[in-house]
Amino acid sequence: MSHASNKIERHLIESVEPLSTPCYVYSVSEVEKNYHDLKSALGTQLIYSLKANSNLDLLVRCGHVFVDGIEMASIGELNLLANGKATRYINNPSADKAFIRAAIASKCVLVIDNIEQINIVAEFIGKRPLNAVVLRINHEVLDHYIDRTKKSRPNHFGFDISSLKAAIIRCAELGIKVQGIHVFQGSDAFNDTAMLTAQSALSLVKDVENWLGYPLTMLNLGGGFSSNWREGGFDFSRYRSLLSEFPNHINLVHESGRGIVASAGYFLTSIRYIKKIDQRRYAICDGGMAQNFLLAKTETAFKRYQEPKIFSHNLKRELTLEETSKKDNDTYLIVGTSCNKDDIIGQVTANSLSIGDTAVFANCGAYHASYRVAPFLHLPDPKTYIVE
Ligand SMILES: *Cc1c(COP(=O)(O)O)cnc(C)c1O
Repeated sequence: MSHASNKIERHLIESVEPLSTPCYVYSVSEVEKNYHDLKSALGTQLIYSLKANSNLDLLVRCGHVFVDGIEMASIGELNLLANGKATRYINNPSADKAFIRAAIASKCVLVIDNIEQINIVAEFIGKRPLNAVVLRINHEVLDHYIDRTKKSRPNHFGFDISSLKAAIIRCAELGIKVQGIHVFQGSDAFNDTAMLTAQSALSLVKDVENWLGYPLTMLNLGGGFSSNWREGGFDFSRYRSLLSEFPNHINLVHESGRGIVASAGYFLTSIRYIKKIDQRRYAICDGGMAQNFLLAKTETAFKRYQEPKIFSHNLKRELTLEETSKKDNDTYLIVGTSCNKDDIIGQVTANSLSIGDTAVFANCGAYHASYRVAPFLHLPDPKTYIVE
């Protein structure tokens, strides 16, 4: 059993602080470990992408972890963290004047997506101190430098080559300093794209420095780390030696959301009823897609439901492998409370499920708590607990 689920088990047994389900449990030490392991595998700075998990209690407990900065994409996120020591980056193609004004007022670094955003920034020049900005580059720009056989899907983020040149001219006219550029290939794309991204960025930064007429001080190479990035077989040491080819005056950074928080979070729901319809068995739980929409896999064509661990309240421990049988007719679908026939959030094969048992889903620390259809049926919000 994993380290953190041990901690959860303790809460379930000892009832020091009884966990009320449905709930999310986040482990501070797991966040810390993921952050440090990923950062040292990369050998660069590592920015936390707040949208993956913006639970305030967790952020407060992890304040000391995210030393290299936090990236935010909305004014709501900015309001959560209006102050703070770590550098805060603001990045969203739709950022409007109110958001940009608030970001400048709270001394954020702006990651600029389009020319109009530069014009908005210009309105605040002289009224407020302005950090040097970062320009976001559309990932297709990298294809100008290296011919890829497998191109990433087009998206609407950042500048293409000609608008990038125009943006650099506009910044020069307005006296806005550019400190760096930012590329991002998309979530889960790191293993497939990182080497080529870094290779093309080596040429791209030279061009950008020529167009600017002065050196860049930072390059954000993006991220796209999967929740199980340790298992992908990626050759980090070869990657680090490629990164060592960047000139010393450029501070390299990566960013990650799920690679840091996904495996540090758990979703717990308890079994209310067990029933059988023909040969199908169901465990009807106190939580489901209303509290954890992503587990229901409604957005994937081929659903493979996650298998939670089962904490047995009768035995006061997790069911062991022997107690989880491999016979198909002992398979239970775990269903929630929403009256939606797609409210199936997991499946478990066990020969002794009991009412009151708690299903513990791993890997729910990123996006699960926030990506929800909350108003539906007025179902309860999940509780949140932070453990060491
Ligand atoms: C959302 C986002 C991330 C984080 O993605 P993960 O898959 O959670 O790591 C990083 N960079 C940018 C620009 C993003 O929009």
